[in-house]
Amino acid sequence: MCGIIGYIGKREAIENIYPALLALQHRGQDAAGAATFENGFHLKKGDGLVVTVFNPKNLERLKGTVGIGHVRYPTVGAGGAEDAQPFIITTPYGIALCHNGNLVNYFDLRKEVIENNLRYLNSNCDAEVILNFLSIEMTKMKVTYLVPEKLFRALTKVYKKLIGSYAVVSVIANKGLLAFRDPQGIKPLVLGRNKQSYCFASESVALDLLGYERIEDVKPGEAIFIDHKFKCYRKQIEINRVNRKATCIFEYVYFARPDSIIDGIGVYEARLRLGEELGKECLKYNINPDVVVPVPDTGRGAAQMVAEIIGAKHREGLIKNRYIYRTFIMPTQSERIEAVRLKLNPIKPEVRGKKVLLVDDSIVRGNTSKQIIALMRSVGAREVYYGLYSPPLRFPCVYGIDMQTRGEFIARKKSIEQIRKSINADVLIYQTVPGLIRGVGLDERGFCTACFTGSYPTKIPQVLLKRIEKDRVRSRDSKFYN
Ligand code: SF4
Repeated sequence: MCGIIGYIGKREAIENIYPALLALQHRGQDAAGAATFENGFHLKKGDGLVVTVFNPKNLERLKGTVGIGHVRYPTVGAGGAEDAQPFIITTPYGIALCHNGNLVNYFDLRKEVIENNLRYLNSNCDAEVILNFLSIEMTKMKVTYLVPEKLFRALTKVYKKLIGSYAVVSVIANKGLLAFRDPQGIKPLVLGRNKQSYCFASESVALDLLGYERIEDVKPGEAIFIDHKFKCYRKQIEINRVNRKATCIFEYVYFARPDSIIDGIGVYEARLRLGEELGKECLKYNINPDVVVPVPDTGRGAAQMVAEIIGAKHREGLIKNRYIYRTFIMPTQSERIEAVRLKLNPIKPEVRGKKVLLVDDSIVRGNTSKQIIALMRSVGAREVYYGLYSPPLRFPCVYGIDMQTRGEFIARKKSIEQIRKSINADVLIYQTVPGLIRGVGLDERGFCTACFTGSYPTKIPQVLLKRIEKDRVRSRDSKFYN
């Protein structure tokens, strides 16, 4: 999962990109970068938070009224500085590109770029592969004078190569800003516009911040090119696969900010409805909690609704240190274990001597939940129930979320009763898959639910799945694959 932004307008692009990246920081804290164009590309990228990578001096250097930006959590590659985005290529024209997603056929495509097209790749990042294929197809088209129709034709060839999830923003030097979204729309991408500018972003919160009122979703399989005269060209690159739209349902459960709207659905409203659905599940159990406590921050809306449905008090019982990274998106197990203690502290009077129902978004490996429950007990909670507003995670995400190996899922190896024992909860209550889909609020065909159901919206041969898992494990140990 990453966050992207692309701007073209009359103001300095970086004045929009920098605050937008801050608004998207929750989507990745591993690296950040931006590329702008004015008499050549200006690039700044590196490891760390947005505020760490950028400073007044380098922001001043990023000149131009068109540009792109990126915040990263590594999914392919070891996540070194060489994998930070955007990437730039000099021919044709000069193209800068960054993306959010994961190509499931990355290793084949990488091989093809190197062996068939005799190109050198400097990173393990799939954005560099997309950039090279775009450059290859544009060169083949002999796009000497850039006509959007030719650009879209080149892009059609690129789409045919790519399998997986991708939301892409790209600057074509002296020409304009290009954005495109994978045929299933797995990764979110929105477009904001006003008289002066166009702006693409992973989440609408970034565009709210910049004052855009006209915000729409880029359609699955759609490419949009805005030239330097601010003329907007749109093309449905993958018409025949549009019916198989598959927005990542986990965006609503965990990733996206609650104030974002993705594919027409407000994330906060979705979490309230998920809480309603979980509340109905809780009624089936013989529990009578004194308080319902959210695991912050994602659990808040859902916990409020659970409390309403079951008729219990809703209380804040855990306070989060906002200056600690989100534990789920930290790269190694040891960092994750330490971070839980660092980031959460109980409000003791709210839990001491009480039966507490904790409401959380999901359980991946179980370590975090186990520690939170231990924390509750250590300050005197009488009983601790654990409610999840998503179903058991059992299948690897191959589309860019850091839970690609099946072995990481506690629910893959254990029954619900075994999980309950393992995390030391008195009662463990999961959302159901129909409850999840009803809660988020579209019909089943509108979502990717693969990590819950094993039903992938793109082709994923078993052999590829095994290879992804193997490569993922290997990537954690080595910097370069080849
Ligand atoms: S597998 Fe899960 S996390 Fe990955 S894209 Fe699908 S719903 Fe989202």
